[in-house]
This record gives sequence, structure tokens and C-alpha cells, in this order.
Amino acid sequence: MKNIKIILIAFIIIIIGYESGIMIANYMKTNGTLLNKISDNTELVWNGPRDKKVIAITFDDGPHPRYTPKILDLLKKYDIKGTFFVLGKHVEFYPETLKIIKDEGHEIGNHTYSHVDVKKIPSRKIEEEFNKTQQKIYDVIKEKPKIFRPPFGSYNTYLKDLAKRHNVKIILWSSSQDCKDWSNPGVKKIADTVINNVGNGDIILLHDYVNTTSQTYEALKIILPELKRRGYRFVTVSQLIKNKDYEYEMKIIEN
Ligand SMILES: [Zn+2]
Repeated sequence: MKNIKIILIAFIIIIIGYESGIMIANYMKTNGTLLNKISDNTELVWNGPRDKKVIAITFDDGPHPRYTPKILDLLKKYDIKGTFFVLGKHVEFYPETLKIIKDEGHEIGNHTYSHVDVKKIPSRKIEEEFNKTQQKIYDVIKEKPKIFRPPFGSYNTYLKDLAKRHNVKIILWSSSQDCKDWSNPGVKKIADTVINNVGNGDIILLHDYVNTTSQTYEALKIILPELKRRGYRFVTVSQLIKNKDYEYEMKIIEN
């Protein structure tokens, strides 16, 4: 009788253990991604917390007098703070535009000097592109960025080490928020991609400079009021990720 009791208890323990194992595994796996608790020194970020209606809108490849000021006016109209990942060479050409971004309360990040793919250049060159841009930005706004976005979302171990050494976070973007506005897919397509896929904690990727006519500004006229209507609060990237206990969604990408 005693033996049967022990066997029964052992059986129950095994079942409970198995069930909770499955629950944890299901929690960890969401749409092919893995939720990982990221420690303070983790330098790769794809999004912010999923439990609040807070998002970050980001603009790459500027500053440029053609579209950046128009986008800034639109952000001001809707009382939105954004994040601009700038190219060192554009900062050199258009320091005044960078200054306006800063003065209007937006965050500025490093996007390399000449839009290089860090996987295709030697380590020494990565360091040079990063440092030169930090310095160019510092010369204008007297602050060095705490965030870096590698062009093409491309990164390697050397870049991660460099970011750690400089206490800079590598900021990517939410996988559903890459509308490829730089390829001019159409104003409606850009707006639909952003609006229909938006979720809490998203980092939205857009561009305030493209070397042709841009559709981004027109799309923003649709995107910004609609997301505000839906109750999303726009913050800068650093604000989005400042609580280090958040869970960030991480893609597992082989280097
Ligand atoms: Zn870029």
C-alpha cells in the first residue's frame, strides 16, 4: 500500500514537472522568436517592453535639409519625440540640421560615417567609422550618442565588443516594422505596413534621407495621427529601453 502511494506521488510530480516544462517552453517561443531576459550589458536591442502601449519611431541616414526639417515639423505638430540615427558624413555637411534635431528634444544615434556594412570591412575600419561619427556628433551637440544602429542591421562580434567598450547599445528594429520606405513602395504601403503591424514596444524603422524623392513624409502624415488615435505613446529609444528589467524580444541570428 505504502509503495503504491509513493509511486502515485512520484507519478504526479513527473506529470506536473512535464506540464510546467511545456508551459515554459511555449512562453519562451513566440512566433519563431525567443524571449530572453537581457542583462545590463546586453548590447543588442530589437524592441522595448511588450506590456505597455509605448513605441519608438526612428529615422536613419540623415540629417539632410531636404526632408529632416519637414519630418521634425510633423513630429512637433503631434508632440512626438523620435530618434535619429545619423551618418557622420551628413553631420559634417549639415551640422545645423543636426542641431535642430537636438534642440527639438529628439535623441541622436550613431549610424556610421559613410553607411558601411560592418561585416564587409576590417575591424580597424569599423572602429574608425564609429569613432569619427561619435566625434562629428559631439562637435555639434556636445554629447556623444549612447546608441548605435549598424547600416543594414549588420553586426559581428567585433562590433559587439566595440559597443561594450564604449558603453553603447546596438539598436536594431522590430521585425514587423521594416516597411522599406527607402525603396519608395508607395505612401499607402509604407503607412499600412507600420499601422497594421504595430505592437507594444515596437521600434519603427524609417528614413529621413533617401537619394531620390521620398514617400516617408507623406506616409507619416497618415501614420502619426493614426497611432496616436490608437493610444500609442512615442518615446525615444533610450527611454524605451531604460528599464533594464524588461524582456526584450531577441532573434537568434548566427554570426
Ligand atoms: Zn541606413
